[in-house]
Amino acid sequence: MTIARDEIGQRSETVRRANLSAIVRELHGQGPLTRSELVARTGLTRSAIRGLIGELAVGGLVTESPAASLGMPGRPSPLVCPDPEGAVVLALDIEVDSLAAAVVGLGGEVLDHIRVDRPRGHSSVEQIADDLGQLVGVLRARRSGWSEIAIGVAVVGVVRRADGLVSMAPNLGWTDVPLGARLERVLGSEAPIHVANEADLGALAEVRRGAARGAEHVLFVSGEVGVGGGLIVEGQPFTGVAGYGGEIGHMPINPAGLSCRCGSVGCWETEVGAVSLLRRAGRPPHSGRAEIDGFLRDAEAGSPTALRALAETGRWLGIGLAGLVNVLDPRLVVFGGLFGRIHPFVAETVDAELDRRALAAPRRLVRVVAGSLGAEAPLRGAAELAFEPLLADPAMWMRRRDVESSRDAVLPLRRVVA
Ligand SMILES: [Zn+2]
Repeated sequence: MTIARDEIGQRSETVRRANLSAIVRELHGQGPLTRSELVARTGLTRSAIRGLIGELAVGGLVTESPAASLGMPGRPSPLVCPDPEGAVVLALDIEVDSLAAAVVGLGGEVLDHIRVDRPRGHSSVEQIADDLGQLVGVLRARRSGWSEIAIGVAVVGVVRRADGLVSMAPNLGWTDVPLGARLERVLGSEAPIHVANEADLGALAEVRRGAARGAEHVLFVSGEVGVGGGLIVEGQPFTGVAGYGGEIGHMPINPAGLSCRCGSVGCWETEVGAVSLLRRAGRPPHSGRAEIDGFLRDAEAGSPTALRALAETGRWLGIGLAGLVNVLDPRLVVFGGLFGRIHPFVAETVDAELDRRALAAPRRLVRVVAGSLGAEAPLRGAAELAFEPLLADPAMWMRRRDVESSRDAVLPLRRVVA
């Protein structure tokens, strides 16, 4: 009998934790919702929602404002808000041209944010980790009193998710670099560090908070100096066996093309990346974000050279994309980073190449759009990655916090005894 009762107890504990997770996920993804909306979205009963919200409020993850009718018909229902200060994560982003750090609260609110040009000549993991450590130092100085529950890191490289080893980042010159371990030392934080490829995280961010919100089958194509891909299948990130998937920038596309930083020749990246775009426009190809801004201003002013460069890049974009559409059959292709910025100039050419080259059936189903999070998509995705353990099991995290706060409560007693 006792065993049976234990089993029932365990089962109901599992159900309770799953329900807490469902509620926190809804609030994190959608923002404030009334209790009635939570009932409708989770399928839980009104009284179950009331009890679970009470627990989450005590745990500091949500706040409730008094019953508000919000202009809706029917009985007013209390508004439940995720508390951005209730749980924060640290998000970091390592791009070829820039480095960024942000503090992001539950619900996805960016509480503070810095992006700087990557210091020229700084390319070793030690230097980049130190530079990121300095950015985090600035954030900590500007805003006291937060401690992150986890750290998410986006990097322009192929990443082994399990331990944050960057096995290859051609545009940083990295091979088998233990980025996660290095950041752990530099940041001196006890919070777990999760490292992933920047395009995978860009895809996650656009699906959670951007142009692909709610879409189930999405290919995110991100272009800067390097070109990366992030795939969402049935709403879930697809990363391959170890996290190495999605390296579409290194699809061989032009056997007569240029050498690629990965060691191959004629990769997609060599035809559509920022370097080739600047070269086609007769600008210094390795000169960073300011040069790209100047080039785009020329394009907006109607410079024929800039527009010709964009047309050629658009053609290669369409050619590569036709192959990807045939293989993956996505509903939505989202252009991120530089590709998002050039989308208005290349959309027609890309569509024309898709019409010419992709199979008719998947071509009819797919739309190509610009991302709405711009250059910040990978950073926002890094925050989403860091929130994932909390979203999966908020009860676990609330219990850890209870332990911490009871430890705090003991301190004054110790002082009195001393
Ligand atoms: Zn390559």
